[in-house]
Amino acid sequence: MAHGVVVVGTGQAGFQLAASLREAGFAAPITLVGDEPGLPYQRPPLSKGFLQAKVDDAGLLLRPPAFYERIDVRVRGGTRVLSIDRMARQVALSGGAALPYDHLVLATGAAARTLAVPGADLQGVFVLRGLDDAQRIRARLAQASAVAVVGAGFIGLELAAVVRGMGLAMHVIDTAARPLARALSEPMARHLQAFHEAQGTRFHLSAQLAAIEGAHGHATGLRLREGSPVAADLVVVAVGVTPNDQLARDAGLRVGNGIEVDELLLTSDPAISALGDGASFPFAFGGGARVRIESVQNAVDQARCIAARLCGQPVPYAKVPWFWSEQGPCRLQMAGLAEPSDRSDIEGDPASGRFSVLRYRGDQLSAVESLNDPAAHMRARKALAPALAPA
Ligand SMILES: Cc1cc2nc3c(=O)[nH]c(=O)nc-3n(C[C@H](O)[C@H](O)[C@H](O)COP(=O)(O)OP(=O)(O)OC[C@H]3O[C@@H](n4cnc5c(N)ncnc54)[C@H](O)[C@@H]3O)c2cc1C
Repeated sequence: MAHGVVVVGTGQAGFQLAASLREAGFAAPITLVGDEPGLPYQRPPLSKGFLQAKVDDAGLLLRPPAFYERIDVRVRGGTRVLSIDRMARQVALSGGAALPYDHLVLATGAAARTLAVPGADLQGVFVLRGLDDAQRIRARLAQASAVAVVGAGFIGLELAAVVRGMGLAMHVIDTAARPLARALSEPMARHLQAFHEAQGTRFHLSAQLAAIEGAHGHATGLRLREGSPVAADLVVVAVGVTPNDQLARDAGLRVGNGIEVDELLLTSDPAISALGDGASFPFAFGGGARVRIESVQNAVDQARCIAARLCGQPVPYAKVPWFWSEQGPCRLQMAGLAEPSDRSDIEGDPASGRFSVLRYRGDQLSAVESLNDPAAHMRARKALAPALAPA
């Protein structure tokens, strides 16, 4: 491998791939190319400690600069991969250079979705995906008096906990009838909603956003199709992400809801792998149905899987998905993947603030949601593992 491995994307997945390749003894060159400036960093604190200034920019870094020198990995930050020439096995970089590869890994992640409503381009309206977004929101929070989040998902609710901790007015708007409608069971979602309401967050559910209103170019609030307007001088749009799959699409790779890979995480070109938030893969537990998972665990475990294959040890990807979210004192951990129609059984006493919801498809455990109960979460991961073991 004279040219070695080129990785597009310097996020969690790209970083882990480089680290795991070297750990496994991979000796050929490794180059990480990412359009964000600087070194790979963690996103989870961006909606938690970073906004509270408990973590600074340096504290977000996955590893210090010396790490990349030590393991001999070149990181080309601030550089976009514009296209892939699959015949010549090289990528074209912004700035004009071409970079040849023996194996290419697409760790391109996902981008925050935006809204096509009037006023979406006003000042004071943000998304929260990258460090640059979080820096802008943090600066704005220092002057804001009322915050509205469009989207009652994990990022929206994590932000709500931070904002109420600062004593600012907080509104959460969603089209669904309850928060976290796609991601969580009804009992757990309602428990979290009650927590946020007790903290002073106001929910506007089953609500349609008509426009973001403004004065002098700056957001002043939200107009809903029905109901009273919501005053807010800082608006965060947190309505999910779209996978960054255009590069793969332009190169003629198979793309659906993200870059499609097989159980070895190979794309439709055997010289190109893909992983992380931007890739969809056959999920062993779901009978092989394609899923795209947005979590640190998924990015890390898929990177390890690809690194092992590139070092001559191919193993199909079959790991229990898990995820966490921190909302004030509520530490939620999830293992497995549930369908909205899966049954929910409560274990423990929700009134104690520490309980789990076990999800079942038929008589098969599909997922476990645990609140402030790390031991239950670890038990769940063990219990779910056999269902994912390759036959
Ligand atoms: C605010 C926030 C909070 C989160 N909290 C949690 C949490 O509590 N728990 C959890 O498990 N997960 C959490 N996540 C999700 C987790 O951070 C992601 O699942 C993870 O970062 C995915 O890593 P990735 O490398 O696949 O993608 P990304 O981190 O999106 O990295 C992809 C990188 O590729 C770059 N790129 C794309 N196209 C190109 C190109 N053509 N050329 C060069 N570079 C390119 C992108 O700019 C980006 O830098 C959170 C995410 C956010 C945004």
